[in-house]
Amino acid sequence: MDPSAGVIEDGAVAVGGGRVTAVGTAIDLAGLTPSRTVDCRGAVVLPGLVDTHTHLYQGLARSLGEGRPLWSWLTDFMWPYAAALTREDARLAALLGAVEAARAGTTSLLDHHYAPADPETVLAVAEAVEDVGLRGVVARGMAGTPSAVARENGLAGGLFAHPTSAEIELTRDCMTARPPDSRVAVWPGPHNVTYADQALLRASAELARDAGTGWHTHCSSTPRDPETYRRAYGTTPVAWLHEQGLLGPGATLAHGIHLTDAEVRMVGETGSAVAHCPVSNQYGADGVLRLRELRAAGAVVGLGTDGAAYNHRQDLFECMKQAVLVQRLHRLDPEAAHSHEALALATREGARLLGIDAGVLAPGRLADLTVVGLDAPHLTPHHDVRATLVYAARGSDVRMTIVGGEVVVEDGRCTRVDEDAICAEALDRARAVVRRAGIV
Ligand SMILES: [Zn+2]
Repeated sequence: MDPSAGVIEDGAVAVGGGRVTAVGTAIDLAGLTPSRTVDCRGAVVLPGLVDTHTHLYQGLARSLGEGRPLWSWLTDFMWPYAAALTREDARLAALLGAVEAARAGTTSLLDHHYAPADPETVLAVAEAVEDVGLRGVVARGMAGTPSAVARENGLAGGLFAHPTSAEIELTRDCMTARPPDSRVAVWPGPHNVTYADQALLRASAELARDAGTGWHTHCSSTPRDPETYRRAYGTTPVAWLHEQGLLGPGATLAHGIHLTDAEVRMVGETGSAVAHCPVSNQYGADGVLRLRELRAAGAVVGLGTDGAAYNHRQDLFECMKQAVLVQRLHRLDPEAAHSHEALALATREGARLLGIDAGVLAPGRLADLTVVGLDAPHLTPHHDVRATLVYAARGSDVRMTIVGGEVVVEDGRCTRVDEDAICAEALDRARAVVRRAGIV
């Protein structure tokens, strides 16, 4: 994904001390005497995939909640489910989702976690992601003091557990326990610009700035978000963030679909980031990202799966393909997006969004790598390997996932955790939690 390098045929990658130490052809690197050599013949080695927006806690509700508009999906399905989750349920859901992601070649993810959001659970979720071997961020979800918008729209339920100042302090505690240099760090993660308390958004951005982290929130994912915001505040969500000085490289907005032209410019000029979730956008019929305009304006755009109950997979291969197809269909233009661009979003650009020194195979970068076997009928031939990865490959084609030089998936199985035990326990807990929540 280094634009100057492109695809190296008969390539080799050397790794040491958690970082890439050399990249070249096998002949270039033949003089090295590594402690272990992995035979990747018939495979492609690419920078690890970065999932910039998910909610792993949703994993125990996979396959439920179909066919509702977003706010009904939240209030009538997702929040009753979220309220029924115990700490151990959330930990198992995180393990399950992280295993699924790792097996699909994801090396880093951002988990926007808000159920339950007590510090012990937030830290248990971060530990679960790390136990599987992944890198990333848990953005601690916060609703804060109920805003008028939340109250008027029936959104001020049990998730509004603490007033804004208390939520910020709890998040600060979690960030102290998992500071920015942690393998899995904690960031502030206010739920949504439209219905969150404005003071919570300001405090979240300030907390992130002081700690040197990013912060994460849902923003303008449906047409209703900016409409509601305009009625309540006389402006639109991104315009307000900009006016308050809250945009910038640390601002990572999930979705960011329904933006005005001026808002697109604001996101771009400030170097803010958007986590684009093309599968979830289609699942909820939420809208189509202004991908070309945002990138042309200077925005950082990464790809996300979104929650396991709003996508149903943690597979960025599917997201790469859909990121291209949805743009083409929406614009009725086969040149509207390109497979090479989708691969950049899922790797290099996602790493930029998370502030991780990965996403490119180059000496000195973190050794987060994905190895995809190309020796299957649906991957034969592969004249253009990048197009093959985006259109033909799927998560199950991943042979090996490497994070910081450590093999966390080998021959398609996680090396650090007992996948079968996690699946069995997740299934038991899933049945119990959906019964408790009354959503089946
Ligand atoms: Zn989301």
